[in-house]
Parts: sequence; C-alpha cells; structure tokens
Amino acid sequence: MLKLRNIFRRSSALKTFTLGVARCLQHTEAASAPNRISSSVVESLAAVVGEKQVSSAVAIRDQHSHDESHHSWYLPDLVVFPKTVEEVSQVARICYDNELPIIPFGSGTGLEGGVNAEVGGVCIDLNKMDRILSVHPEDFDCTVEAGVLRKTLNNYLRDTGLWFPIDPGADASLCGMCATSASGTNAVRYGTMRENVLNLEVVLSDGRVINTAGAGRRTKKTSAGYNLTNLFVGSEGTLGIITKATLRLYGIPETTISAVCSFPSVQAAVDTTVQVLQCGIPMARIEFLDDVMMNACNLYSNLNYKVANSLFLEFHGSGKHVEEQVAVVEELASMNEGENFVWAKEAEERNRLWKARHDIVYASMALKKGSKPYSTDVCVPISHLPEVIVKTKEDIAESGVVGPIVGHVGDGNFHVFFPVNPDRPDELKAVKELSDRMAKRALALNGTCTGEHGIGMGKRHLLTEEIGETGVEVMKQLKAALDPKNLMNPSKVFP
Ligand SMILES: Cc1cc2nc3c(=O)[nH]c(=O)nc-3n(C[C@H](O)[C@H](O)[C@H](O)COP(=O)(O)OP(=O)(O)OC[C@H]3O[C@@H](n4cnc5c(N)ncnc54)[C@H](O)[C@@H]3O)c2cc1C
Repeated sequence: MLKLRNIFRRSSALKTFTLGVARCLQHTEAASAPNRISSSVVESLAAVVGEKQVSSAVAIRDQHSHDESHHSWYLPDLVVFPKTVEEVSQVARICYDNELPIIPFGSGTGLEGGVNAEVGGVCIDLNKMDRILSVHPEDFDCTVEAGVLRKTLNNYLRDTGLWFPIDPGADASLCGMCATSASGTNAVRYGTMRENVLNLEVVLSDGRVINTAGAGRRTKKTSAGYNLTNLFVGSEGTLGIITKATLRLYGIPETTISAVCSFPSVQAAVDTTVQVLQCGIPMARIEFLDDVMMNACNLYSNLNYKVANSLFLEFHGSGKHVEEQVAVVEELASMNEGENFVWAKEAEERNRLWKARHDIVYASMALKKGSKPYSTDVCVPISHLPEVIVKTKEDIAESGVVGPIVGHVGDGNFHVFFPVNPDRPDELKAVKELSDRMAKRALALNGTCTGEHGIGMGKRHLLTEEIGETGVEVMKQLKAALDPKNLMNPSKVFP
C-alpha cells in the first residue's frame, strides 16, 4: 500500500478538475466531497506550488483518503504537494480566505483515520519537504523537514554514532509522528515523541508561521512561557501544519542484546516487567505478546517460538553493563516461571526477531484471509495491566472473534489487532463493541483510551469520558484561538 502511494505521489499531475466525484477503491463507501473548490482557487494554489503539485485526479485523492486503519475512506477535494514552508503558508492562506478545510498528510500510516477527509477539503501532502536540515552531534539534536521518514533519518545518522529511537514500527514521517505523539517499542527507555521534540515550526490555518520554542532554539530545557511545543505534539493536524521539527538524538549503544522468553500467564509476564523496572534495569524494549499473537508471529515469520504469553526484550549499554542487566532479568523471569529464553546477540538475529515483532499487524491479518486490521490502543497504570489484559482476553474469547494482543508492557500500553472482514458489518460491529469495552475498562482503571494512536475518527466518542466536559471545552477554546474558522482537520478528535 505504501509503495503504491509513493508511485502515485511521484506521478501526480494537475488533472481535469472533477469535484464531487468520490470513488471507493476498497471496502468502504468513500463519502462524496462537497463541490466547494472553484477553478480560480485551484489556479491560485497552482500559482504557489506549481501546476504539477496540485492534483484533483481521483487516483491521487483516493491515495489520500485513508490511512492504514479500517476506518471509512473519504476523499479530499484536492491534494497539494508543497516544497517549502513559504508554500505551505501561502496554501494555508488561500484555504483560509476561501474557508476550505486543510488536512495535513504525513505518510498515511496512522491507525485512527486521522487523514481521512471526512468533510472534503485540501489535503496537504508534506512528502516533498524531505530535507534533513541540520545535525548537531555534540548537542545530540537534529532538525528535519516534515516529510523526512524515521528510517531515512536513522540511515543518515548512522556514521555519526547517533540515532533517533522513537520507533512506531511503520516507517512514518517524523512530523506525522509529532502530530500523533507516536511512541512504540523503545518508549520504555527513551520516552515518546512528547519527550523528544525540542522545537516545531508550524503553519497556522491563516498562514502565519510560528516556532513553538522560538526560531532556531534547540535547548533540552526551557521554562519560557507556555509549552507550545507539546500543545502541537499529539494535535493530530487539528491546530496547524508542522513543517519542521527539532528532535533529540541519542548515542548508538555499544552493545545490544535481544531475547524472547515465555511465561505461564499474563500476570507472570507483567510481574516480571514490573520487578525488572523496580530494580532500575534500563530496559530498551520490553514487549508482551499473548499466545494468539505468538502463534500468528510464528506462522507469518516462519519461526518456532513457544506459543505462550511471551516477552520480547532488548538491552542496551556497554558490554559489561548489558551482561549484568541480562543476569538480573533472567533471574527475575525464572522466579516468575519464565522459560525458553532465546537470545539474539548478532545484528542479523536481532533484526529477524524485531522484524517478526514489527510485522505483527500483517501477521494478525494473515490469520484471516482478506481481512483488514482493526486496531485498538489503550494504556493503564502498569499495575492494572494484567487485569485489563486478562478481562480483554476473556471478552474476546466469549465473542468468538480472533484478537491477538501485543503490549508495550513497560509503559502499561497494549493493542489488539483484530483481523476483520470489512464487508461484514456484523463483524465490524462486534469488534467495535469489544474495542469500546476495552477502552472503558482502561478508563475505569485510571487509564487512557489511546496511549499512542490518537483519537482521530475512531475514539471521538470517548474523549469526554476521559478528559471531562470542562477539559474538552478548554481544548475546544484552545482550538478556536488557533484555528478560528475550524479549518484544520475539522471533525477529528472532538466529539
Ligand atoms: C504496522 C504499523 C504499526 C504501527 N505501530 C505503531 C506504534 O507502535 N506506535 C505508534 O505510536 N504508532 C504506530 N503506528 C501508527 C502510525 O505509524 C503513527 O501514528 C505515526 O505517527 C503516523 O505518522 P504518519 O506520518 O504516517 O502520519 P499520517 O498517518 O499521515 O497522519 C496522522 C495524523 O497526523 C496528522 N499529520 C501528519 N503529518 C502532519 C504534519 N506535518 N503536521 C500536522 N499534522 C500532521 C494527520 O493529519 C493525521 O491526523 C503503526 C502503524 C502501522 C501501519
């Protein structure tokens, strides 16, 4: 799918303008976008970005009508491909003057329908802004344009001995990752995007450009005024278009060792995790896969791990330090009846192990032919994790659907990747109900309905329950202050 998108991106061209044409290439009826963009607006946009960088072609709009989730596809009226912040600013101003919705598009790997253009409008695809602008090895930071992908950055950084560890599995754009406050397998050690963004350049809906920490600033700490940076991190394109991000970097660890081990129960796996963290072991990764997911993983990646509740582990540090960490973790795991340790010391073995872990969405889909992923994402204080996972497993078993579970267990965060047949409304309904019950279970235990995928289209109905009416009201006031015409990714996040 992503490869296909890239092909379309490269071949974008200004086509005959056919508004109101909404076509669905896949399972869901893509809603018809209202006929609201005049040819003079299209000409104005083309004058800013160049004719070839504006497209109303149905194929291009289709490509921008959805992310990787199961949510219904909605076509934007138009897709533009700016190359500079000045172009983004002028595009936003034209949209502002003509009251056109703006949908920022990163790499479309989101899992909550964040880019789906529910009310039509202009999709701003940021992939042509793909320069790594600066790297300061001695300060452990870099500045990138919106379209730089995380793997591209890490390949670029390799010779400097530095890396950017936030790893949502998919090769997402770094500013898309800012927009969803992404995290992933390394968050237990390195934090989420919130902890790793030092500054953002943002274009507001009226075309004004701000630097959230001040132009060119890249300090690790600041007490100057409100934290605008973290207001935009996780804002899901509803407050502005992020065009540049200054990010924290880390030294590549001298030694890395990975392992997989199995446990007799969810409780035993989580107890081990809590005890490991209580001992101050700086785990780089500690990931939970339930027995259903391990089976899917074995089948998809041609492995033969034991089919049981398991932990995938990774240790970073100097050689001696890693040895000490491994010894403590092995002892704690054994105390909780952990067994079948499979160690991966060489890069090739480790890559194979983590590739299997990262391919779990596809492994889950392979359990059911023709299915699409319906993913859920909740997070609770870690002590509540066994209870929520066990109850969720019981709920899934009673409902009769397939629901493999994976968790960033060190953060109290877990997902179910339901393989659903999108043409079966009864299946979708059952999974949606399961997913809602899971979110409500997490909320009842002081948790959140989304640890990292965001609210998007899928969890709007849960926001008030989580934040409270007054909290949501204040969020809406903040949005109104920054986006008074409600043009930025309208309909997302808020109920
Ligand atoms: C196989 C797979 C595994 C995944 N695993 C994880 C995981 O472990 N952890 C995790 O956190 N996520 C995970 N994700 C979800 C996804 O990769 C993240 O949400 C990622 O941050 C999305 O980035 P993107 O560039 O693809 O954004 P998009 O999907 O393009 O957009 C997501 C949202 O951000 C907005 N947006 C995008 N770019 C900008 C911008 N420049 N300015 C303002 N708003 C913008 C969009 O409007 C939309 O609302 C996974 C996805 C897949 C397919």
